[in-house]
Amino acid sequence: MMNVLNCEARLQLPNLERYLHLITDRVMSFDARMFRNDERLDFRFAFGEAAFEMKPDVLVLRAGAGDRDGLARIKDILATAVEIYAKEDEPEVVWIGDLAGDTRPAQFREMTVIHVADLTPHMRRIRLAGEDLVRFGKFQGMHIRILFPTASVPDPVWPSLGANGLPVWPSDDRRPTARVYTIRALDLQAGHIDVDFLIHDGESVGSAWAIRARAGHKVGIMGPVGRPVRPADWYVLGADETGLPAIGRLLETLPPQTRGIAFVEIADRNERQQINNVTQIELHWLERDGRAAGTDGRLAEQILSARWPGQGTAFGWFAAEAEAAKLVRSTWRDQMGLGRDQTIATAYWRRGQAGLMAG
Ligand SMILES: Cc1cc2nc3c(=O)[nH]c(=O)nc-3n(C[C@H](O)[C@H](O)[C@H](O)COP(=O)(O)OP(=O)(O)OC[C@H]3O[C@@H](n4cnc5c(N)ncnc54)[C@H](O)[C@@H]3O)c2cc1C
Repeated sequence: MMNVLNCEARLQLPNLERYLHLITDRVMSFDARMFRNDERLDFRFAFGEAAFEMKPDVLVLRAGAGDRDGLARIKDILATAVEIYAKEDEPEVVWIGDLAGDTRPAQFREMTVIHVADLTPHMRRIRLAGEDLVRFGKFQGMHIRILFPTASVPDPVWPSLGANGLPVWPSDDRRPTARVYTIRALDLQAGHIDVDFLIHDGESVGSAWAIRARAGHKVGIMGPVGRPVRPADWYVLGADETGLPAIGRLLETLPPQTRGIAFVEIADRNERQQINNVTQIELHWLERDGRAAGTDGRLAEQILSARWPGQGTAFGWFAAEAEAAKLVRSTWRDQMGLGRDQTIATAYWRRGQAGLMAG
């Protein structure tokens, strides 16, 4: 790829050796290939390139891409990985070079509600329209952070872009509240996305907003976020209602010859929904029938008892309450020895905790 846009950041990280492998592992999970050349690591993504140059006392991060979206994405991936894993060295990422003075986050759009429909008693599909949504179909990330107005901040100020390539937020009295959702469907031509909101019990931000949503209401979205689901011949997919939008999207968009098995946990029979499954993946509904959400162990049990095929490529994907996700992740990774490139098991919510994964 021709990199027409390039930038770099210089960092002093005295303890780099301790956590470099964690940073590179995270960067590679965005489908990057890594090449090592003495004191330099090069990463190739579908949308650009990055490099780490390890000089005495300084780490130089380099990012290059063919367009603004690609460069913004790489800056975001590198800066986030450094901020998470190099915390002990208090890193200060400041990008210099192309687009360094940009103050509009490439990953942000303001969206307007144009349609609201109930799919089932507890699942509400909301269509959001916005400008230039192309990037939300790129990077293989299916998810977004939705920035909501709330009762205490009814008129939020949207984030700007910091010198580190990450968003800068307004003070708390103007800051929107974020929650993570899935783009269930994306229509680039028409300029809108669909998001399926679970209407769940308890005080909330996302679910409460969805209950009141009307045409004309505004939210912000940032993304796309999430690790890519790898191409495979066979999948085992498991989710409760919060992961159902992602499973619906996968069943409607994976290649028709794809095989596998999917289990979706729902409250009861009335929560079954129509999915235009174009694949050979068998879809099974598991109804809780009175058990509280996040307490029914059958979903994890079914997923873990699936027999992985001996031939061809296979991928495991799971999204549900935190306890179930932890059990599935540790069994896949630690007991079955499956790698990060063969599995994604994510906590989509936690019983009794607001805003999991939204930070
Ligand atoms: C990558 C990703 C993609 C997601 N995609 C979707 C999606 O497309 N649609 C969707 O509806 N959700 C989705 N979720 C889950 C959603 O982000 C969480 O359920 C989130 O907590 C909802 O925010 P809230 O403001 O409604 O509730 P919060 O304010 O976060 O929580 C308030 C209370 O509600 C409880 N609660 C939260 N979720 C549930 C639930 N599912 N059932 C019962 N109680 C709950 C919490 O434990 C807490 O006690 C996704 C999560 C992730 C990480």
